[in-house]
Parts: sequence; C-alpha cells; structure tokens
Amino acid sequence: MSSAARALLLDRDGTLIEDAGYPRDPAKVALLPGAAAALRDARALGYKLAIVSNQSGVARGLIQPSEARAVQARVDDLFAREGVTFDGAWFCFHGPEDACACRKPAPGMLLDAAKTLGVDLGGSIMIGDKASDVGAGVAAGCVALSFGETAHTGARAAFATWAELAAWLRAKS
Ligand SMILES: [Mg+2]
Ligand SMILES: [Zn+2]
Repeated sequence: MSSAARALLLDRDGTLIEDAGYPRDPAKVALLPGAAAALRDARALGYKLAIVSNQSGVARGLIQPSEARAVQARVDDLFAREGVTFDGAWFCFHGPEDACACRKPAPGMLLDAAKTLGVDLGGSIMIGDKASDVGAGVAAGCVALSFGETAHTGARAAFATWAELAAWLRAKS
C-alpha cells in the first residue's frame, strides 16, 4: 500500500452543492445530502480535500469575481459546520472560447492542486457530475468517479448518492 499523500479532487456545483447554474447568491448554497459525511470519512481515510470548479459565469459576465468568492465562502462555512475543511479550492473563471489550460476537461486545476498539496495524482480520485469532470480526472491520471444521475464514459465507477460513494471509498482504502 502506497504511503504517498492522496486527495479527493471534487467538482463543486452539482456534486457537493445543489447546482444553481452560474451561482452568484451565497444564500442559495445548499449542501447535497451525505456529502459532508462522506468527506469526513474520506479525511479519516487520509485523503486531502480539494475543490476544482469551472465558473465560466465570470467570463460570461454573469458572476462578479466578488460574488464567486462569496459563494465559496458560504460553501466553506456550511461544510465547516459539518466538520469538513478543504485543503484548497481552484477555480477556472474562463469561458469555453478562452482555450485555457484550467477549464475542465483540461487537467490544469487538478495538476495545480496536486502540486500545491503534494499529492500523488495516481492515488487521487476526481469526483464530479459532468463528463468534463471525468475527462479531467482521466487526463490528470486520477481515478475518476461519476456522481449523480448520469454515469459518464471513462469513469471507474458511477454513484447516484454520496452514501454509496462513501461505502466504495471505505472498501477501496
Ligand atoms: Mg458540476
Ligand atoms: Zn481556465
């Protein structure tokens, strides 16, 4: 068993919190059922926790950067009340036409997070509700898990609930 540090690389909207579509109002942030408990479990299993989130609403002029920061502050606060703190959060504020290296399915945010946190990507797990999340995880050399109603191609496994995903993580670790 490898002793290298590892992380859960987590999509945010539609994975950790309800997908509000270009979220700009902190008051509308709602944690998804079981997410906090699963992340507490993951922490106990030795995983670092990092958010990697596309926020193209900024490039589209729908979200101000200050609003994006306020939404994340609310996410941090709600998870902290459940005993979960994140090791970091990475955001891409670009749009699809910007051809940046960070917008998922590009792996830029995952590579940055791994470098900053000192984790091994091969032992880390990307979790998200979109094909672009699975694609970014695969591109970064992670295990990719598909979360939510749609099981995306390329994922190692797909889970409709955090309780099922947490059970898989315990069995694997
Ligand atoms: Mg999402
Ligand atoms: Zn970007």
